[in-house]
Amino acid sequence: MAEARQRALVVGASSGIGEALARELADAGYDVGLTARRRELLEDLGRVLPTKAYVTRMDVTDLDAARASFHEVVDAMGGVDVVVLNAGVAFENPDLEWEPERDTIDTNVRGFTALATAAMDRFEDQGHGHLVGLSSVAARFGNGEAPAYGASKAFVSNYLEGLRYRAGRIDADVDVTTIEPGYVDTDLAGGDFWKADRETAAEQIRRAIEKNRRHAFVTRRWVLVAKLIDYLPDVLKRRLFR
Ligand code: NDP
Repeated sequence: MAEARQRALVVGASSGIGEALARELADAGYDVGLTARRRELLEDLGRVLPTKAYVTRMDVTDLDAARASFHEVVDAMGGVDVVVLNAGVAFENPDLEWEPERDTIDTNVRGFTALATAAMDRFEDQGHGHLVGLSSVAARFGNGEAPAYGASKAFVSNYLEGLRYRAGRIDADVDVTTIEPGYVDTDLAGGDFWKADRETAAEQIRRAIEKNRRHAFVTRRWVLVAKLIDYLPDVLKRRLFR
C-alpha cells in the first residue's frame, strides 16, 4: 500500500515567503493547508499545486475564530504533521503612532500565540507534530523605525524556545523549529538592501523542517550582518537604527 502523504499547514500562505513555502512543500510531496485573509489568492494557489490543497480563510487577529478555523482545516486534512506559523505584519512607523504598533502585536504576538497553542494541543492529541515559527533576525536588535516589529519577533523566538522545552515534557513526539530570516524580497520588507528571493528562503526553510533543525537562520548574508551588529557598541547601533 502507498504511504500516506505528509500534511503541512501554512498559516499566512497567500503571498511572500508563505506562498513560496507552500509551493516548495507541495513540490516535495506534502498535501498542504493554506490559510490567510485573502481567500481568493489561496484558491488560485491551491489550483496550481501538484498535491492536495485545503483552503480556509483565517484572520489570526480574530483569536477564537482563528483557533476554530485551525481545527476545521486540520480535521479536513485528517490531521497535520507540520504547522508553519508564518503570518506576520511589519510597518514603517517613524512617528511612533499607536495603531501600527498595536496591529503588529495583535498579529505577530497574540495571533501567533493563539495558533501556537492550538497546534500544540493538536499535536498532543494526535501524538506527534512539528511546529515551525517565522521569527526574524530583527528579533536580535531594536529598530527605532518600528520598535514593535523586532520586539514581536523576539517574543516569537523566545516563545518557541519555551514550547521546545514543553515538548520534552509531554507524551507526544513534538518538534519545534525557529526560523530567523534576513531580508527576503516580499511585500512586507521595505528597501532593497541585500534582499534574497523568496524561493531561496522557502527552500532553506523546507530543508530546516526536513532536517528537524531547532533553529535556522535563512538567507545567510543578512545573518552575518545581524551577528556583526550584535557585537557593535551601542553608540554605533544607535546611528544605524536611529
Ligand atoms: P507578506 O506580507 O508577503 O506575507 C505575510 C503573510 O501573512 C500573508 O500571507 C498574509 O496574508 C499573512 N497575514 C498577515 N496578517 C494576517 C492576519 N491577520 N491573519 C492571517 N494571515 C495574515 O510578508 P513575508 O512573506 O515577508 O512575511 C512572512 C513572515 O516572514 C512574517 O512573519 C515576517 O515577519 C517574516 N519575515 C519576513 C522577512 C522579510 O524580509 N520579508 C524577514 C524576516 C521575517 P493575508 O494578507 O492574505 O491575510
